[in-house]
Amino acid sequence: MTFSCLVKKGQCEIRKRPIPVLKDYDVLIKMKACNICTVDYQQFMGLREHQGYPMAGGHEGCGEIIAIGSKVKDFQIGDLVALGYQGCGHCLECRHGNVSACESFRQESEDGYKFGEFGFAEYTVKSVDGLYKLNPDLDPSQAAFTEPLATVISGMKKVHVKPFETVVVIGAGPMGLLNALVARAYGARVIVSELLDAKLETARQMGFLVVDSKMEDPVQRVMEITDDDGADVVIGAVANSKAYEQGISMLKKSQGRFLVFAAGHPEPELHISANDIHYKEMEIVGTYGGTNEDFEDAAKALSTGMIDISALVEARYPLKDMQKAYQAAVDGNYRISIVFHDE
Ligand SMILES: [Zn+2]
Ligand SMILES: [Zn+2]
Repeated sequence: MTFSCLVKKGQCEIRKRPIPVLKDYDVLIKMKACNICTVDYQQFMGLREHQGYPMAGGHEGCGEIIAIGSKVKDFQIGDLVALGYQGCGHCLECRHGNVSACESFRQESEDGYKFGEFGFAEYTVKSVDGLYKLNPDLDPSQAAFTEPLATVISGMKKVHVKPFETVVVIGAGPMGLLNALVARAYGARVIVSELLDAKLETARQMGFLVVDSKMEDPVQRVMEITDDDGADVVIGAVANSKAYEQGISMLKKSQGRFLVFAAGHPEPELHISANDIHYKEMEIVGTYGGTNEDFEDAAKALSTGMIDISALVEARYPLKDMQKAYQAAVDGNYRISIVFHDE
């Protein structure tokens, strides 16, 4: 199988390895698309070198099943599936469906590849435990949004957004706008705060109320929009201390919820008064990954068209142009999609 891996900062290589032998519950997937996540392109930029090299990442992917292991019953040849998380299947976290917390998740492959998810590959082998069926008519680059969408749905459940609440999303990158889309699907009034013009325009075109945080103080503006009530929920989708602290300042006076959605490298700090958390009965909530249930929800939301993420696919590249695609991901605003087999 031909695949791409990062061998050092700023350099990827296309390599070949034998296709792993299918175990009883494995399937062979002919990949259709895999999108470049921050986890991948920040490794390309050298910002996440703790992840290690050579890194064969690529976790936001989908493809068609072309062979199945001897005991696979619920998946068939021809199914379009999204890649989810592959855990050990036995630990407490796996049994709760919280596979991203499993110690085996994103482990090194047997042949020494870090983050050995092998999504940037023409073919990949996965256990059916971590696969989700999709509508076969979906555009592959959009179907590849199942994983990021699952992480967003997971966070939304944790901050229990209710209809007619005001939700502010800080950051209009792909993860910010995915959060905005899901908050809207939950019935909330959504405000998106961003400073880059191109991203503000995308958010506006998607019908969100926007706050241009380079022109106006976002805290003040959110207070104006909400008649001084503040936001019920703020979702921090850019990992930046100032943005996070502003987000907390725009919460309503009591029982506001703040979701720490994004990770930053170098690590951002968060300065907050413990008394504020106490007296204002604030909820500061973290989220990472999605459970199996969140993946099923994400697959359904995309398959039925309930969530339309078409604006978030910026460009498509074939695997052979992976090096260029990484640079495009660094320079771009939304997802760069690697497509395979002339998709
Ligand atoms: Zn991702
Ligand atoms: Zn496990």
